[in-house]
Amino acid sequence: MECLKTAITSREISLERAKQLKSKIQDYLDVKDSIPKGMAEKFIEKKQDLKQKMLSLFNATESDWDDWQWQLENRIADVDTLTKIISLTDSEIEAVKSVGKEFRWGVSPYYLSLVDENSKYCPIKLLSIPTSIELAPSDGLIDPMAEEFTNPAGSITRRYPDRLIINVTNECAMYCRHCQRRRNIGGTDNHVSRAKLQESVDYIRDNPEIRDVLITGGDAFALPDSTIDWLLGELYAIDSLEYIRLGTRTLVTMPQRISENLLSILKKYPPIYVNTHFNHPIEITKESKEACEKLANAGISIGNQAVLLNGINNDKFVMRLLNHEMLKIRVRPYYIFHAKKIIGTTHFNTSIDDGIEIMEYLRGYTSGMAIPTYIVNATGGKGKTPLFPNYLISRGKNNIKIRTWEGEVINYPNYPTVPIEEFIE
Ligand SMILES: *Cc1c(COP(=O)(O)O)cnc(C)c1O
Ligand code: SF4
Repeated sequence: MECLKTAITSREISLERAKQLKSKIQDYLDVKDSIPKGMAEKFIEKKQDLKQKMLSLFNATESDWDDWQWQLENRIADVDTLTKIISLTDSEIEAVKSVGKEFRWGVSPYYLSLVDENSKYCPIKLLSIPTSIELAPSDGLIDPMAEEFTNPAGSITRRYPDRLIINVTNECAMYCRHCQRRRNIGGTDNHVSRAKLQESVDYIRDNPEIRDVLITGGDAFALPDSTIDWLLGELYAIDSLEYIRLGTRTLVTMPQRISENLLSILKKYPPIYVNTHFNHPIEITKESKEACEKLANAGISIGNQAVLLNGINNDKFVMRLLNHEMLKIRVRPYYIFHAKKIIGTTHFNTSIDDGIEIMEYLRGYTSGMAIPTYIVNATGGKGKTPLFPNYLISRGKNNIKIRTWEGEVINYPNYPTVPIEEFIE
């Protein structure tokens, strides 16, 4: 009798542990639904209103709206047009005007339709509409990456042994207020000349240790289809290149870009990887979902490179939700970049601690699939450097001390590697 009363079955232990695990996710579940999402019904209605407003203002049709050329041609980039679409206070209008003299701005009708004009802290608004904070004195730099010193040929940026970037344009569907490449954006749209692209291709052909090329800008998908087709064709013919990557934010800022014609071009040059840039779950809409699914169905893997931004996503739960929402639309979280101090954008800067905290509350708490790498770009162009919470506490001769995701410190054996030849003769 006595032993029956005290015996704890393995099922009981499992149930107790499950209860404990449930309690570890409760804080997230409590706030999750209060984080604005681009798929929420209420949000979709609001967005339709702004869209209709723009369609009548531009005297355009639904099929114009769905055409990326129309979206690009009708980027809102002057304050008069902007105020016909969303209401701004006098001081906000003044700010847009004076920032416009200093830094370029412009937003696709699609992305503008996502703005919540009544919210001071709307992430879409903060990321797309200039504010006077951009002009406040700051110690931001213009080129902290020293990109001028990493250009061996054409429009290449080479910073690593086996891969490089070809910069193809400075044009984007939207000029993001937090842009880390603000220096390149300049005042006018310039696609890199065919001659410079050819020179870049030739460099890759002449340097066969380059096995991975990243086409970016600006936005790779700001190029016309014909240029994309030509460039991919040239690169595809180089034997030493193993795959091609394209950097684009159009999945977020102008999902109409993923046209049937573009898809048929991309399908010709596998394997292709696309890197995009979602920063907040509110950017994940029906349209962006469709665009990602079309790419995925064309055999293209999509990775996300978020930027850690003050007031947008420097929150452990917003970032967790963002990663979950992206996986649902077939986008794999790849990097979270620590925001560099760049002139005009320093209000978006966060501490490193914010980034480490976010990483701390991903590992263990959620799927490994939902965990990107947190990256600091070492100053002086010294390269991407990953930062992690500290899991390796100490490293002894036959023993290491580690810290688990739940904060438990334990010893773990560390034996020297025995050469395989000692096992297999
Ligand atoms: C970021 C970057 C790459 C790509 O780096 P991955 O870590 O492989 O994604 C390549 N070249 C340059 C110059 C870069 O800045
Ligand atoms: S799409 Fe990328 S490169 Fe273009 S403005 Fe936005 S952050 Fe900068």
